[in-house]
Amino acid sequence: MSESFDLIVVGAGPGGYVAAIRAAQLGMKVAIIEREQKLGGTCLRVGCIPSKALLETSELFEKSKKHFAERGLIVSDVALDLPQMMKHKDGVVSQLDMGIQGLMKKNKIERFFGHGRLKGKGVVEVTGNSPATLTGKKILIATGSVASSLPGIQIDGDRVGTSTEALSWPEVPKHLVVIGAGVIGLELGTVWRRLGATVTVLEYLPRILPGVDEQVANEAKKIFEKQGLVFRLGAKVTSATASGAVCTVTVDGADPITCDRVLVAVGRKPCVENLGLEDAGVQTDKRGFIQVNAAYQSTSPDVYAIGDVIGGAMLAHKAEEEGVACIERMATGYGHINYSNIPAVIYTQPEIASAGANEDALKAAGVKYRAGKFNFAANGRARAAGHTEGFVKILADEETDRVLGVHIIGAHAGELIHEAAVAMEFGASSEDIARCCHAHPTLSEAVKEAAMAVDKRAIHS
Ligand code: NAD
Repeated sequence: MSESFDLIVVGAGPGGYVAAIRAAQLGMKVAIIEREQKLGGTCLRVGCIPSKALLETSELFEKSKKHFAERGLIVSDVALDLPQMMKHKDGVVSQLDMGIQGLMKKNKIERFFGHGRLKGKGVVEVTGNSPATLTGKKILIATGSVASSLPGIQIDGDRVGTSTEALSWPEVPKHLVVIGAGVIGLELGTVWRRLGATVTVLEYLPRILPGVDEQVANEAKKIFEKQGLVFRLGAKVTSATASGAVCTVTVDGADPITCDRVLVAVGRKPCVENLGLEDAGVQTDKRGFIQVNAAYQSTSPDVYAIGDVIGGAMLAHKAEEEGVACIERMATGYGHINYSNIPAVIYTQPEIASAGANEDALKAAGVKYRAGKFNFAANGRARAAGHTEGFVKILADEETDRVLGVHIIGAHAGELIHEAAVAMEFGASSEDIARCCHAHPTLSEAVKEAAMAVDKRAIHS
């Protein structure tokens, strides 16, 4: 079969499918190629969504066992039904997949089920379930990323696995070793700790959560240790292997560790295998990321790329924004993203969220700023809900008071951060936030108080 389109999108993750919808809205005839049956990419199938389902359920489990009684709720015989928990997670994924399939139909986007490979100018070959040769005026690559590993680590897809496997283990590990104290390591380490595993996190750096504001990361470490995670910092993992049900992890200069499951969470790399990039004249950098200009155009003029495959923050919402900006720029000549204001959220409990610059970056850049901090312990709603850990920190330019960064560790931080992101997008000062009336009693009042604290006039601290 040979068909022609205005746009061919390769990869139906959050970047690709959102770009396809925007292109259809703008009048293009669009094809989307995806090799997995389900649409939604890593985020929906084996990333953000299933991990959030497990985080929510495991939190309920832990709360019911450890915290209900102190609130006067007596629940006896709380037990884990892991297969049902997994079934619920899989159900959430399936429902959302059906939603995206419906959106493709609604927007008259033609879906091809198979692997897409560039075959010369404007041609993409699809192999697999729906083989076809497609021609397109423009091609957009949105193939995302895959988990990285390290030399010496033998990922067997069972005992030694990545986040994909850790979302579906058939039983709770007795001892789980997590390699890497980044976002994935902490989110999934938390899930299995809550379900009963002993969890040891090995991190090469002398701190956890690289990239997160250091004060926030230090606070997070203290809280997670209290919850039961064991951290070994400065631990360079040199190998991880499995023999039957026993795994052995070796660390430079220390005794080997034995455990029954290993989660390798040491970052992700671009998914560019067998895409035919070289033949199509699409250049990648040393790490394999597709090189693009400000219009997301690769070194081959009619081939564009967005999302994890071009590097930068590996976040679904960053890919979505790039998808929309890329298509709007193609269609109208204008499309824009403010890369300095992309919120980031880590879905542990407490959640960790940020927008804008962190203190470490401001110091390194020599920017003079004032910091206002407010602890949730002094917030009425946080007390009532039993979520007193953490704080809001607002960083504002010393001279102009413009908000430069907001960092929150606390319950619902991932929702609270958007007030800050919107304020920053409109160039707000800390005084602007402080002068806005915030409803009482809400967690959002902590954002207002932190803004007031920039000027040393917080009321409740
Ligand atoms: P990451 O980059 O966040 O963390 C990897 C960690 O592994 C780092 O701390 C690194 O120092 C450590 N490490 C590397 N080599 C090591 C070694 N030999 N021994 C011990 N430690 C070692 O990577 P990740 O957690 O795998 O996440 C991958 C990507 O997915 C990230 O870009 C992340 O932002 C994204 N992601 C985001 C979310 C979210 O937004 N909530 C959730 C999951 C994943």
